[in-house]
Amino acid sequence: MSDVIERLTSLRQHQEDGRRSPHKPLLVLLVLGHLVNTGTSQMSWEEVDGRLGFLLQEFGPPRKGGPKPEYPFTRLRSDMVWELSRDVPDDRVGPLNEEPITGRFVPEVESLLTSDPSAPYRVARGIVEQQFPMTIASDVLIATGLDPEFVFSEGLGAAVSAPERRRSSSWPREILQAWDRSCAFCGFDGHLGGASVAVEAAHVRWFKFGGPDELDNGLALCSLHHKLLDRGVLGLRDPETVMVSEAFSARTDEGRRIYDLHGKRLTPRPGTALPSQEHIRWHLEEVFKAEALAS
Ligand SMILES: [Zn+2]
Repeated sequence: MSDVIERLTSLRQHQEDGRRSPHKPLLVLLVLGHLVNTGTSQMSWEEVDGRLGFLLQEFGPPRKGGPKPEYPFTRLRSDMVWELSRDVPDDRVGPLNEEPITGRFVPEVESLLTSDPSAPYRVARGIVEQQFPMTIASDVLIATGLDPEFVFSEGLGAAVSAPERRRSSSWPREILQAWDRSCAFCGFDGHLGGASVAVEAAHVRWFKFGGPDELDNGLALCSLHHKLLDRGVLGLRDPETVMVSEAFSARTDEGRRIYDLHGKRLTPRPGTALPSQEHIRWHLEEVFKAEALAS
């Protein structure tokens, strides 16, 4: 059992210095969701194409050339967990569209996942914790058909202990202090009793992708703006200037208020470190949903 979990949570990826590559992990999550909901991991290319394309668009890094669901659909075979109903070359979409083709977990993996009802959730937890910050992990799970309550419910325990880099336990407090316990974007500074409420320390470069717990890699943000930063709606044009993705839309005045942040200058108190260019560049390349609104 633990061997199967290990295989599904340590997929072979082109892991270059902090570049995100969630293609295979998102395919596995999608198939786990399908398995939990239907009892089988078998999915047609047509269905994977549509749903994984959407997941990569929503939660993957912005990449020229589009989401490319054909990459993981063919390449997951090399991890010995996935098989296709007929042989096709890696990475090419043409042969997939020529005639119907389905993919599924190999029998050994499928039987282990179906014989232990908690196993799909343990695997899902291992994957989602490796790939995404907590602000958006639940959104990813819901989109793949997995209930976050089950995935994160106590007692199941994380499937894998990801290679541990020590978090600095004082970093959130230091970030909040540096930004006067108020959102760097909108100024929200709610308190409940003596403590900040809904003001959080946000990494510019995600911790899981090499972002350090340093003062030049963090901003104090309200819960809303933290989430929008992690989803790529908001970004930084330079260390002092907020930008909004043109991919964002909203109908009500309250929702459209996000647009007002475009071009807004950060005004930290004297001595507070602004995010470094290096971390801003990572966020722009790996998270921000380009393009920005026209200035
Ligand atoms: Zn805010």
